Amino acid sequence: DLKGKAAIITGSTSGIGLGIAQGFAAQGINIMLNGFGDSVEIEKERQAIENQGVKCIYNDADMTQPDEITAMVEEAMKVFGSIDIVVNNAGIQHVAPVEEFSPEKWDSIIAINMSSSFHTVRAAIPHMKRQGWGRIINIASAHGLIASPFKSAYVTAKHGVLGFTKTIALEVAEDNITCNAICPGYVLTPLVEKQIPDTAKARGISEEEVKRDVILSAQWTKKFVTVEELAGTSLFLCSEHAENITGTHISVDGGWTAG
Ligand code: NAD
Repeated sequence: DLKGKAAIITGSTSGIGLGIAQGFAAQGINIMLNGFGDSVEIEKERQAIENQGVKCIYNDADMTQPDEITAMVEEAMKVFGSIDIVVNNAGIQHVAPVEEFSPEKWDSIIAINMSSSFHTVRAAIPHMKRQGWGRIINIASAHGLIASPFKSAYVTAKHGVLGFTKTIALEVAEDNITCNAICPGYVLTPLVEKQIPDTAKARGISEEEVKRDVILSAQWTKKFVTVEELAGTSLFLCSEHAENITGTHISVDGGWTAG
């Protein structure tokens, strides 16, 4: 029973993070939202989550700033009195050949998609150890397991997340804390939606054809993964059935990395 537990979900003002926040709240888990966006929209999302009968607070920590990340974890501790679940989800994408890849973009992808997990975990683990229970879930990607061209920083960061996941799992294995990754295939979030009209124009095909023949060409089910499925997978990793699942990943990718 996860009712009354507290979860920090980074990058939860949109897409997968927001879907996980809503799925967690439906199980009675108190939520700390984080991420960028329009403050009116964020407040609406926060209230919609509170309407499910849980406490929901928002922290605007920038995942490139270690001090802000530490302060975010401490704020959650102060408000909720515990930190039971951390979902490291914030992430961005940038697509360019390596010789044209901007060093600034490289640094921010490594910081947001990879190093931010180190900073949240570093700050949260002392609390989890004291509580004698904790669940860490890192949202990696199919690109944590395999590569695509022109995504050097993203693929590097996501592979790094899987190495970090295994290491932390070993360090806290006897503390009733598990650390796992989820590797989604394509999910139709703003991160992916932004690419569709441009790709359609560039290739002279319809947006439907872009989805089916370009984006989903590697996803054998020919279906997008949904945020609800990822919320369900995250809840499973927090459940008592998953106590001995640690230091590994679950692929939710429509068979992409099998083929
Ligand atoms: P999204 O763009 O919808 O959401 C990204 C979230 O991260 C937003 O809330 C945004 O505000 C936040 N964010 C960005 N930069 C931040 C920063 N510096 N500090 C704090 N928050 C920041 O994207 P999404 O598709 O929901 O992606 C979420 C995660 O899932 C990412 O790690 C992404 O790599 C991963 N993922 C996505 C897909 C997909 O197909 N959409 C597939 C595999 C993995």
